[in-house]
Amino acid sequence: MINYQLDDQGIATLTWDMTGRSQNVLNGESCAALFAAIAKAAKDEAVKAILMTSAKADFVAGGDLEWLLAAKGADELFARTLDLHRALRQLETCGKPVAMALPGSALGGGLEVAMAGHYRVASDNPRARFGLPEVTLGLLPGGGGTQRLPRLIGIQNALPLLLEGKRLKADAALKLGLLHAVVPAGTEVAAARAWLLAQTALVQQPWDSKGFRIPGGAVSSPGVQQLFMAANALLRAKTYGNYPAPQHILSCVYEGLITDIDTGLKTEARYFVNTVLSPQAKAMIRTLFFSMNAANKLAARPAEVPTQSYSKVGILGAGMMGAGIAYVSAKAGISAVLLDTTPEAAERGKSHAQALVEKQLNRGQMKPEQAQALLARIAPTTDYAELAGADLVIEAVFEDRAIKAGVTRQAEAVLAADAIFASNTSTLPITGLAQASARPANFIGLHFFSPVEKMPLVEVIVGKLTSPATLARALDFVKALGMTPIVVNDARGFYTSRVFSTYVLEGMALLSQGVAPALIENAGLQAGMPVGPLALTDEVSAELVVKIDRQTQADLGDAWRERPGQSVARKLVELGRIGKKAGRGFYDYPEGGKKSLWPGLAEQFPLAATQPPLAELVQRLLFVQSLEAARCMEEGVLTTARDADVGSVLGWGFPAYLGGTIGQIQGLGVQTFVAQCEPLAARHGARFAPPQLLLDMASRGEAFYPR
Ligand code: NAD
Repeated sequence: MINYQLDDQGIATLTWDMTGRSQNVLNGESCAALFAAIAKAAKDEAVKAILMTSAKADFVAGGDLEWLLAAKGADELFARTLDLHRALRQLETCGKPVAMALPGSALGGGLEVAMAGHYRVASDNPRARFGLPEVTLGLLPGGGGTQRLPRLIGIQNALPLLLEGKRLKADAALKLGLLHAVVPAGTEVAAARAWLLAQTALVQQPWDSKGFRIPGGAVSSPGVQQLFMAANALLRAKTYGNYPAPQHILSCVYEGLITDIDTGLKTEARYFVNTVLSPQAKAMIRTLFFSMNAANKLAARPAEVPTQSYSKVGILGAGMMGAGIAYVSAKAGISAVLLDTTPEAAERGKSHAQALVEKQLNRGQMKPEQAQALLARIAPTTDYAELAGADLVIEAVFEDRAIKAGVTRQAEAVLAADAIFASNTSTLPITGLAQASARPANFIGLHFFSPVEKMPLVEVIVGKLTSPATLARALDFVKALGMTPIVVNDARGFYTSRVFSTYVLEGMALLSQGVAPALIENAGLQAGMPVGPLALTDEVSAELVVKIDRQTQADLGDAWRERPGQSVARKLVELGRIGKKAGRGFYDYPEGGKKSLWPGLAEQFPLAATQPPLAELVQRLLFVQSLEAARCMEEGVLTTARDADVGSVLGWGFPAYLGGTIGQIQGLGVQTFVAQCEPLAARHGARFAPPQLLLDMASRGEAFYPR
């Protein structure tokens, strides 16, 4: 775990090197080894100075989440936390200078260990990151991070790092005073040794020195008081109190920094245990860490198919989506032939990549030669012959079956027999589109989201005739792009569009029932959705909502049913208020001004005499999505709860604190969820009736995930 070596100059070097792991992490075994090594070095009189480093590319990647969650309750967790605090306090107060030589990243628990050294020197490794990202998984730094960081760099500098979990590069960490030096790669241990040997006087942490003052002002100083007031208000405005972790982090800093460090550490330990045991942390860790890792490792990939690497892809349609897909492909080092009906349209698609690259050049996030190489990989054209040799072609032409069929045939005429053809359709069932293909086994759906370069999710849609090999190879492409796939079976609206639409429709249904528009929008935000349902309808446009419903009606015939909310969308279209792109929808969008709810809504949708409580609206807006996700599970559109949850959080911003659409049901327990749906169904209709899958699970006491 940790190699211990004492040299003849009295320097004890503790080198992290966990066997059988690519990364060092804090877990039961490594903590035991760490505590023993610290105690030994502190007590041995032959040891004059202590150097800690790592034999791996990074220092320590953080705490092992499996170990964290395996703790048997609050007492064990609290005891473990105090043990770590005690060991790190022993290290920093033993009277011997302690230097940390960091070859790469020190994140989370890794940075907390590093902060217990008196001196931190890092390699100028461009891949190294320093930060406390715990909050992004619903946690707080429990290894002293909330106490040492603000004492080291000041409360004002520490709060953004703690509350946003930002990861800094070495030069930024140096500027903030989190690091003392950055040296050429491979010389960090020598630099740490040189510092240790130069120490002659007693070395102490600033917070253990007499007369210590927190840089930038103590908690009681007027500036910092104001800072806390603003931070509290901002946090509330951003999270609506749905996330305990950042709230607890603020409390740790406030309460911990009006005391001495040892009391502060105890305060942190209490909040830490409370946070780890919160349902929000459990849900976030499950979805954002374990499920997302499984998705990124292509858990659903048929294993027997050899991995496909990609060097050339074709993209049909250089509009908003096609241009985005070409950019992310080129960025991943894959050549992209970008085809449209006219040279101008194809060039316009490439200019999207040009604009994105320029932005990064201006911000210093990309080197000119990288930018050039990226752009050189995008070849705009109108000539199908240029697709020859592509391993994969993705069509992103107009959402029209006939046009899609035409481009499928034209592309297949020049493609190799084993090439894959993918459609980026958002609404048309894949199995139907595959009828235009001469090789439907090689036909699949790759549903990207807009804007492609910012949205990390791809919904991979398996048609009736799609082969396992095609699925495997399509997943390899998503992985090559560095994006996260979920795999769904073919059905109307697939998974993401289908469930997402229930949210906007519920918002419109509420409006038709006389609920105040501002109340509806606030309920959406209070629920934790990124945007209120009416504003979201404006974004996608009421026109599109109506168009998709018409298509559904045409396809389903007698089986089509009017859904509550649709009539509101039709009304808006009739009024010419089709959405944001027209500058008028549920909101007015004055040029250069802020959007505001259209006052005319009051006349079109008169207010009911009594307004429902906010909590009920929040529940309706969230439950309607989880119910539809459960129906997708029941119908086999989704095969795992993992895909439902990852897809909902990444795809349309379903609140992470609930862990996703199915995560919400898991959190409440299936029985409780079902019991809460029943009165909603009685009052508001069948969309709130729990599907048989949930009724069966409730009666058998089952859960979607192991408890
Ligand atoms: P868009 O209108 O911006 O672009 C479509 C492009 O296809 C245009 O440049 C057009 O000239 C080109 N085109 C039309 N017919 C063609 C043909 N025969 N051959 C070659 N090119 C042709 O549309 P978009 O928003 O990029 O959407 C494209 C596809 O992606 C649609 O199927 C859409 O449903 C789907 N999609 C869109 C979004 C979104 O948010 N816009 C999200 C996911 C999926």
